[in-house]
Amino acid sequence: MKKHNFSAGPCILPKEVLQKASEAVINFNNDNLSLLEISHRSKPFVAVMEKARSLVLELLNIENKGYKVLFLQGGASTQFLMTAYNLLHKKAAYLNTGTWADKAIKEAKLFGDLVEVASSKEDNFTYIPKGYQIPKDADYFHCTSNNTIFGTQIKEFPEFDGVNVCDMSSDIFSRQLDFSKFDLIYAGAQKNMGPAGTTLIVIKEEILGKVERVIPSMLNYQIHIDKDSMFNTPSVFAIYVSMLTLEWLKDLGGISFIEKVNNKKAELIYTEIDRNPLFKGFAAKEDRSIMNATFTLTDENLKETFETMLLEAGINGLNGHRSVGGYRASMYNALPLYSVQALVDVMQELERKNK
Ligand SMILES: *Cc1c(COP(=O)(O)O)cnc(C)c1O
Repeated sequence: MKKHNFSAGPCILPKEVLQKASEAVINFNNDNLSLLEISHRSKPFVAVMEKARSLVLELLNIENKGYKVLFLQGGASTQFLMTAYNLLHKKAAYLNTGTWADKAIKEAKLFGDLVEVASSKEDNFTYIPKGYQIPKDADYFHCTSNNTIFGTQIKEFPEFDGVNVCDMSSDIFSRQLDFSKFDLIYAGAQKNMGPAGTTLIVIKEEILGKVERVIPSMLNYQIHIDKDSMFNTPSVFAIYVSMLTLEWLKDLGGISFIEKVNNKKAELIYTEIDRNPLFKGFAAKEDRSIMNATFTLTDENLKETFETMLLEAGINGLNGHRSVGGYRASMYNALPLYSVQALVDVMQELERKNK
């Protein structure tokens, strides 16, 4: 039996996608060649790249709005510095909501002045700051839509009448948003789109060309746009699997469909966390993430029993990040509702045993 996979990333992928991907490793496109041994410039692979691009724009509902789609390497972590390298002329504004935002801030400081508009660092990032001001003259505003480690998520984005940049690594394609409000979105594939190895960048070309510094080619968005993400060899397998996952999502009914499922999963787990006296939620209720639910045991003595029960129920990847402790249920698009039910069953069983 396949395990209930709550891993935070790399994470669960749809079974059908894994099946198709494994077939392509042996015989891609019925050409009796592996996807892994053909040129990235061959017709069948260029078609994969094109398909992946058009699915991204279609699913995000931002077709014909001047966006370019890139699939690069180096993870979201490289985007922390690439965004600043390409966009930071004098001053940038950042919202600090977690470890990833904090890392992005650290990188951006290498390139210019940085205004931290608000931060929840002193409270171990348990909530999303609100009501802050973004300086009008900032070159761009950067935020993280979902804080994978702490289990918080921005529900309402601030209105900033300038360039808006967002790290959507762990909740892209999970909920409906007006994606056209953003000028640059980036996301490491391995949280909600595919395997590790490629990073999605959705960018409005018009925001480029405003900085004076010389940008090395591999870190230059304009070069990757001009070369259709083929300035160097792209990670063909990761892009192919991402394309299959996007196709799977489209066939299901797109973001509007999956959002309903994701909301159901989140409601199921949070209801249990709040009801069951043996558990306590980590994040502020109003900021709770629908992707990553963080919680702890109220009695640490039950740790061993609970973890043995999880193991027996085939539940994988529930350990919280070391900076939070406790547990984290990551419920990305491909995680079925019945897996969350299996977890809730174990939580209730623990309660019964300890009455
Ligand atoms: C995982 C994660 C990252 C880092 O991604 P890499 O691809 O490992 O560099 C950045 N931001 C967020 C929100 C993440 O969840």
